[in-house]
Amino acid sequence: MTTDFKTMVRAAVRDEAQLRAALAESDIAPMLMVLVQLGGDLSLLDEAAPHIQGPWSFLQTVPEALKQKIRDRLVDTLQAYARSGRDAPPRPSTEALLRMMSVGVGQPVPAEYIPLLLEEMHFGDEDTRAVHWQRDPTALPVEDFKVIVIGAGLGGLCAAIRLKQLGIPFEVLEKNADVGGTWLENAYPGCAVDTPNHFYSYSFHVNNRWTRHFSRRDEILAYIREVVRFYDLAPHIRFNVEATSAEFDAARDGWRVGWRDAQGRTHSAQCNALITAVGQLNRPAFPKIPGLDTFKGPAFHTAEWDASVDLKGKRVAMIGTGASGMQAGPSIAPDVAHLRVFQRSPHWAVNNPNYHLPVTKGHIWSLEHLPYYSNWLRFQLFWASSDGFHASLHVDPAWKHPEQSLNETNHRMREMIVEYVRGELGGDEALLAKCIPNYPPYGKRMLRDNHWYRMLKRDNVTLETDPISHVTENAIVMKDGTVHPVDVIVYATGFQASRMLWPLEITGRDGHTIRDDWGDDDPRAYLGMSVPHYPNLFLLYGPNTNLAHGGSIIFHTECQVRYIMQALRGMLENGWRTLEVRPDVHDDYNARVDAKARDMVWTHPGVKSWYKNDRNRLTVTSPWRLLDYWAMTRTFDAGEFVAVHARDEAPAAQ
Ligand code: NAP
Repeated sequence: MTTDFKTMVRAAVRDEAQLRAALAESDIAPMLMVLVQLGGDLSLLDEAAPHIQGPWSFLQTVPEALKQKIRDRLVDTLQAYARSGRDAPPRPSTEALLRMMSVGVGQPVPAEYIPLLLEEMHFGDEDTRAVHWQRDPTALPVEDFKVIVIGAGLGGLCAAIRLKQLGIPFEVLEKNADVGGTWLENAYPGCAVDTPNHFYSYSFHVNNRWTRHFSRRDEILAYIREVVRFYDLAPHIRFNVEATSAEFDAARDGWRVGWRDAQGRTHSAQCNALITAVGQLNRPAFPKIPGLDTFKGPAFHTAEWDASVDLKGKRVAMIGTGASGMQAGPSIAPDVAHLRVFQRSPHWAVNNPNYHLPVTKGHIWSLEHLPYYSNWLRFQLFWASSDGFHASLHVDPAWKHPEQSLNETNHRMREMIVEYVRGELGGDEALLAKCIPNYPPYGKRMLRDNHWYRMLKRDNVTLETDPISHVTENAIVMKDGTVHPVDVIVYATGFQASRMLWPLEITGRDGHTIRDDWGDDDPRAYLGMSVPHYPNLFLLYGPNTNLAHGGSIIFHTECQVRYIMQALRGMLENGWRTLEVRPDVHDDYNARVDAKARDMVWTHPGVKSWYKNDRNRLTVTSPWRLLDYWAMTRTFDAGEFVAVHARDEAPAAQ
């Protein structure tokens, strides 16, 4: 809450008709939580509990009479606060919070989540994940310290904000002409977030004005630009420069970062610590199909969409049916003469009734004016997309359909989706068979249905599931010899995620290079952030930090940035010139990652995905619950690192 409580309450009750109209359009569960928090009366929770079956608004069937009672009581409570000029109520006790939360999401919320949730919900003005100095920074050599951040996407910008708050000098190198990273580059029709937006945003910089529950790319990019303006980050960002190399300079205990400018000139700069924030979904992957370069028509990747190509009336081929294809296909299908979708393997996709809905004016009003409503909505959405499915993603060794599903819960999920898709396809069993994966749900990224199945039923759309043989100058030829003439090819074929940090050449201590250490597809790091032989190097969105069971990558980013800021604070406050993770700590962590991943859905033998490498090792995705990773990264433990005070001193045992 940026406005103080009393001012907010007075403004909320100023126009009762407006307040009531807004409440009528707002979500009942967060509204109930606000009422309980303000009024302190937990009894309404018992009344509402039977009608709240889950965290999503569409899983709540609270009868209208009870809804009206909640709204009326809320109006009365707010008016009473305004009349009395009372201060904000104290935060509910842990016991009360647990009861409120569990009713709010229709599931028991374990007590172990409370500290994480309070951080995420961000009650009051306290910036819960900010790192503060423990010693007087004016007495420290902060000004002589420099950090380079590579990348100005959501990760790099989060690091930049925190560095700025600590007053640590930094520079961000960005290869594009603007901020936004993946949200700048991906401008294909239909591009949108599929994590709910009121949660897919920085916890310390909420946006109450999202116009959709799952916003489109332009709105997310506008949010990112607004963040850059708010924190005045632009002066710290060098645009149109591509970092090409980073070499650890042992003589100076720092990094020399090389980059190329827009004119192709090479430059370099020295820094004490380096943060890479280059993303995982950054370098497009193209299929290796013979003859692709002989195609004469326009051909482009979803991440390099060529808006100058008018698709109206064209025969368009789209290769790939992952998250990008799911959004691009249905968005272009109504315009093109014919869309031929080439599917190598189907994805699982669930329906979310909120996916296409705009946010109502009343809901926006409540987010802006109703004390704590925005916090409670964030909680609802966090819970809806957090660790709920994690337990069901482990293999039950006794399960009777091991190739189709993992266990009973996973199987129920499978059946539920099959029923949904069958309905969408109007009972077309032949098409259904092509659309249902032969691996368990969640094996690859779970998609949200963007009217994909309805698109497949259109007269001008064909789904091809046979293998492609080659491409000619104007057609795609199938292995069985069928020729499909096409005017445009769209590659919705994803990214080179396992080849992490590529093409950046990183050389650490004693001549180690990341490419030699990791190979092309076997990245490893401690907590996804630190690698032995690479002192003072911190990775954002590094190995095993992608999220596939739920959550928002922004949540993981905030965990990582807090940890890194604590590490940098440790360097400055303790005079450590280098900080390098201990090899045993790194190896032990990766052994635990591998062991954890071994019985999880992503390493299922029937699944091939960008989450893992050819040896079936999970390299990209995190096997942990959000809660586990949050706990592991909450406090930087210097004992897990070798910290060196000065070049001529022996490593200090921490
Ligand atoms: P992707 O999920 O990796 O999908 C690539 C698609 O291309 C798959 O269907 C794949 O088939 C197919 N493919 C790859 N090589 C092929 C070949 N040689 N021949 C035929 N088909 C081929 O990539 P993406 O859709 O760009 O998504 C990548 C990630 O970006 C997502 O998982 C998600 O994390 C993120 N993303 C998020 C959103 C969002 O928030 N809404 C939107 C877009 C992307 P196989 O499945 O058989 O490999």
